[in-house]
Amino acid sequence: MSAELAQQVRQRRTFAIISHPDAGKTTLTEKLLLFSGAIQIAGSVKARKASRHATSDWMEIEKQRGISVASSVMQMEYRGCTINLLDTPGHQDFSEDTYRVLTAVDAALMVIDAANGVEPQTRRLLQVCRARNTPILTFVNKMDREVQEPLALMDEIERELGMTVVPFTWPVGMAKFFGGVLDLRKDQMRVFTPGEDRVAGTEEIVDGLENPVLSERFGDVYEQAAGEIELVREAAPAFDEAEFLAGHQTPMFFGSAVNNFGVQEVLDALVDLAPAPGERAAIQRVVKPEEPKFTGVVFKIQANMDPAHRDRIAFVRVASGKFTRGMNLKVVRSGKAIRPNTVVTFMSQKRELLEEAYAGDIIGIPNHGVLQLGDTLTEGEALQYTGLPFFAPELFRSVEVADPLKTKQLRAGLTQLGEEGAIQVFRPMAGSVLLLGAVGQLQFEVVAHRLEHEYGVKARIMPARFNVARWVTCDPADGGDVELKRFVDHNSHRLALDAVDAPTLLLEYAGELRAIQENWPKIKFHALREHA
Ligand code: GDP
Repeated sequence: MSAELAQQVRQRRTFAIISHPDAGKTTLTEKLLLFSGAIQIAGSVKARKASRHATSDWMEIEKQRGISVASSVMQMEYRGCTINLLDTPGHQDFSEDTYRVLTAVDAALMVIDAANGVEPQTRRLLQVCRARNTPILTFVNKMDREVQEPLALMDEIERELGMTVVPFTWPVGMAKFFGGVLDLRKDQMRVFTPGEDRVAGTEEIVDGLENPVLSERFGDVYEQAAGEIELVREAAPAFDEAEFLAGHQTPMFFGSAVNNFGVQEVLDALVDLAPAPGERAAIQRVVKPEEPKFTGVVFKIQANMDPAHRDRIAFVRVASGKFTRGMNLKVVRSGKAIRPNTVVTFMSQKRELLEEAYAGDIIGIPNHGVLQLGDTLTEGEALQYTGLPFFAPELFRSVEVADPLKTKQLRAGLTQLGEEGAIQVFRPMAGSVLLLGAVGQLQFEVVAHRLEHEYGVKARIMPARFNVARWVTCDPADGGDVELKRFVDHNSHRLALDAVDAPTLLLEYAGELRAIQENWPKIKFHALREHA
């Protein structure tokens, strides 16, 4: 059993695909599924998105704005590996959701638009990956267009993202002169032909990077590429696995997702380079993925994915062991027992019933509020994983109902949306008006829309005077709960409780915070809350 378990863990790859909107994330996702055989025809991922639009009201917002609000999970088999791909919303207003998704992966695939280079959202997401030392693979997309010179792009990525770039392929020409890529490791050129019809293994290959045929056929653009490669070989360090795994080096690939070109190299790199699931830190101890007992952590909650069922799904990253349908599990935070019988896995197109899953996999557990963000599930052990981030909101609004008879529905709706992480909900200790906190403006709009369409509440979202929030705690050595209570009693007019009843200081100006910190040296003020 444990040998089988270790084998299952070894053959898993779990990664997120990140990019600035429009770089080609959706297109590449679809082509990865196509090349792995998980779907048969191109267009399915977009079609799936479209059908979700049709069935889910609140996704209209996404349709209207042409952005991806929801993240989803896809699984594919390739070369004996089970690859889990987690999509992330591209829009910065949903970055909190993305940050949490990034805690559930072992690697990230960064898609860069070769014309635009490093864009703001890429930079932000990369910061999170860097903070967690997540290994990053880089795919430079849209080489079939007029784009930046590859050397300039490489330089920009190194400078802007603070990583050493190691090219695994190098482009020959661009736009209508794009001839294909030189594969620096396999010593061959893969020739580009436009079109969406080609499938894996049907590319024309010319052996030998210095094959005279290449110069004859591609002329100047080949000569230029060959010259650039020499420069790169002199300047760039060799690929170093340890440096890559630490997030310091990124292998770079060039291609054109819409033309199915360069996709297979990415799949191969995921299998050959990306790490299998590794160990994870809990407060109590470090857990190895091949430990026989199941443990998992809830990193995302999504309510009402299908309004027909009014379901609420907790996305759980399996951290260790094997999950089997119907097994007895404990929610460590509450001590409650659950026995998930209808568990969903997220295949390429439909949600299927899942029988078993291994460390690295993502499972979806439908529930009615038993599971919250950051929850740890075990077979009984008291274990709490850390590292699921909640950021102190920077935007605040107060919220009221137009119809006072709907106050109960408003509270119920906001509680659920808060638990889902769509917004942060604060209950001021003085006063009865609820406060909403967000990182991005769009979150308020989504919440207002969802309150109306999912909970039948027309909410009035109004300006609030706060601009700064900090969670407050006090270490036992500094007086612990007694000192914290003293602080709370003195400051109740500017304190609120969040979704898990953690006391939060709300202020108008950052300057106030410094004054309060000086007056209360034993209290800790946190801009980040890491677990429930
Ligand atoms: P996302 O917002 O990152 O998911 O980007 P999409 O996958 O939706 O792609 C944005 C646009 O770029 C779409 O119109 C795609 O058809 C187009 N696109 C994607 N890959 C390529 C490519 O390799 N070449 C060209 N010319 N266009 C591409």
